[in-house]
Amino acid sequence: MADKIRVTVWGENVHEKEMPRVREIYPDGMHACIAAGLNEAPDIEARTATLDMPEHGLTDEVLENTDVMTWWGHAAHHLVEDRIAQKVKTRVLEGMGLIVLHSGHYSKVFKWLMGTTCSLCWREADERERLWICNPVHPIVRGIEGRYFEIPKEEMYGEPFGIPEPQETILIGHFEGGEVFRSGCVFQRGAGKIFYFQPGHETYPIYHQAEIKLILKNAVRYVRPQGPRWIDGAPHIPVEQAPDPISKKD
Ligand code: ZN
Repeated sequence: MADKIRVTVWGENVHEKEMPRVREIYPDGMHACIAAGLNEAPDIEARTATLDMPEHGLTDEVLENTDVMTWWGHAAHHLVEDRIAQKVKTRVLEGMGLIVLHSGHYSKVFKWLMGTTCSLCWREADERERLWICNPVHPIVRGIEGRYFEIPKEEMYGEPFGIPEPQETILIGHFEGGEVFRSGCVFQRGAGKIFYFQPGHETYPIYHQAEIKLILKNAVRYVRPQGPRWIDGAPHIPVEQAPDPISKKD
C-alpha cells in the first residue's frame, strides 16, 4: 500500500479548557475528535498539534512531514505567532493541502492566503442547517447520499462572506433563519489546494456526525499534494543554458 497521507490536525484548544459544555462534547479536545475521525481511514495518518505547545506544535520538522493540515481556531487567532502562521502559509504555497474549519475563516493563515477580510454574518441560535451539494460528482462529497444533508443545530454563518470567488463552491449551507452561505469552497494558492468547510461550532457535536467525518476524509484526499514541491526561487537562466539558444545568430 502507498504511503499514508500525513495529516496534522491543528486545534486552538481554548474553548475545550474553558467551557464545560464544550469539554462534555469533546473531552479530549475537538482536535482529538477530528483526528480520530480521520484515522478511521486506512490511507490517512493524523496527529494533532495545539496552540499551547512549543511553536504551537508546528515545528519545522512537523511542517516538513505534513501533507495536509486542518485548522480550527476561534478565540485566540491573535495569539498565533506571525512567524508560525507565515511558515504554514509558505508550506501551502509549496503544495501542502489546507482544510480550514468553521471559525478558522478568521485565522491569520486563511486571511493571508485569501488576501481579503474573510468576514461573514453570524448568529448563535441553535438553528438547523441544510447543506446543499452543488456538485454531486466532486470527490469531496463522494459517498454523501441525496441532494443535501442536515446538521440538527449549528451557528448561523451567512453571506456576504469576504472571500475571493472560490475555484469551486461544493456546498451551500441554508439556515432556519433564511440565510445562505458558501459552506464548502475550494481554492488554489501556489501549488497548494485549500478547502474551507463551515460546519463545526464548538458547542455542538458536529465533528461526531457521520457526514462531516466522511467529507473531512474526502477533503484530505482531495487537497493532498499532487506533485513535487514547487520551488519559488525565480531562477535566472543564462542564455547559454536556454533549452534552445534562440539568440544565437548564424
Ligand atoms: Zn462558531
